[in-house]
Amino acid sequence: MAIERTFSIIKPDATRRNLTGKINAVFEEAGLRVVAQKRIQMTTAQAESFYGVHSARGFFRDLVNFMTSGPVVVQVLEGENAVARNRELMGATDPSKADAGTIRALFAENIEANSVHGSDSPENAAIEIAYFFAGLEIVG
Ligand code: ADP
Ligand code: MG
Repeated sequence: MAIERTFSIIKPDATRRNLTGKINAVFEEAGLRVVAQKRIQMTTAQAESFYGVHSARGFFRDLVNFMTSGPVVVQVLEGENAVARNRELMGATDPSKADAGTIRALFAENIEANSVHGSDSPENAAIEIAYFFAGLEIVG
C-alpha cells in the first residue's frame, strides 16, 4: 500500500471544546502522521471557496457561518491509504449514523458541527492541501 497524504480540518465545534489533542490522538494511534498543521480563523471567502461544491445545497450558508465561527486546525495527514483511512476514522457525516469509536461518534455535536473534515479522494486531497499549505510547510 502506498504512502499517501490527505487533508484534515478540526472544525470550530471541536476547537471550542478543546478537543484538538484528543482528535489527533485518534489519527496518531491509527498510524497517520501529522506532517503539516496550523490553527487559523477561516474567512468567509475561504470557507465559501473550500465548500464551493456544496454551494447549491440548503445548508451551505449555515455551513459557511459555522466554519467561520471560531478557529480551525488545518492539517495534512500522511500514512498508508491515508485518504480512506481518515474517512474510516472520522465516521459518517451524521454522527447518529457514525460507527462506534469513530471521531464523529465520539465527539460530533450534530450533522453540521461534526468536528472534522477529511478529503474524499486523493485528487481532492491534493487540491485541498494546496489550498492551505505551501509545499515547504509540509515536512514528512
Ligand atoms: P463529509 O464532511 O462527511 O465529507 P459532505 O461533504 O457531504 O460531508 O458535507 C460537508 C459538510 O457539510 C459536512 O461535514 C457537514 O459539516 C455539512 N453538512 C453536510 N450535510 C449537511 C446537512 N444535511 N445539514 C447540515 N450540514 C450538513
Ligand atoms: Mg465531503
